[in-house]
Amino acid sequence: MMQLDIARDTDALLMVDLQPDFMPGGALAVAEGDRVVEPIAAIVPRFRTVVATQDWHPRGHVSFASAHGRRPYETLMVHGYEQTLWPDHCVKGSRGAAFHPAVPLEPVSMILRKGADPDIDSYSAFRENLGPDGTRRPTGLAGWLRERGIRRVFLCGLARDFCVLWSAEDAAAAGFDVVVLDPLTRAVFPERAAEANARFARAGARLVG
Ligand SMILES: [Zn+2]
Repeated sequence: MMQLDIARDTDALLMVDLQPDFMPGGALAVAEGDRVVEPIAAIVPRFRTVVATQDWHPRGHVSFASAHGRRPYETLMVHGYEQTLWPDHCVKGSRGAAFHPAVPLEPVSMILRKGADPDIDSYSAFRENLGPDGTRRPTGLAGWLRERGIRRVFLCGLARDFCVLWSAEDAAAAGFDVVVLDPLTRAVFPERAAEANARFARAGARLVG
């Protein structure tokens, strides 16, 4: 068990996208993605405020390569930024979009679904990716946490180099102290860890574990 000094009134745990589609056998499988679920479940009871995000896309979502007649993992300029195109994944209501059965949902205070706008992706739990109006629309999570007195956010889940990374950057930008529970994450592109690590560092996110 990690040595973590949890302040129950001011710390929150953010479990990112623990969904079968991001795990081995899933549509957008992250290597070893299933390995983080049990250890995350083990630390959940140490937090009073627990948030779970769920990637939740309509069919034909802008982030799907199939929607553009392209191949997965190619990139495309969307609303002025370089969008990675993904296999169809986490289609809302599908089994791949459900929570992994070992995710403890009873202690979860808030389930945040993201990416539901057909035309805008959302890696981060705090803000959508750039939209057609050139802004990144907030999800409301920062205000929700702040109103509950949360000052520090512990991040874990999938994928380290996309939804965890973007959430960490946005949490820091919103004024939270950010701790990434690194062994409780897995990356889509582990070979690009240096790039992700530089962004975590630039955001002031602390990696532990
Ligand atoms: Zn997605």
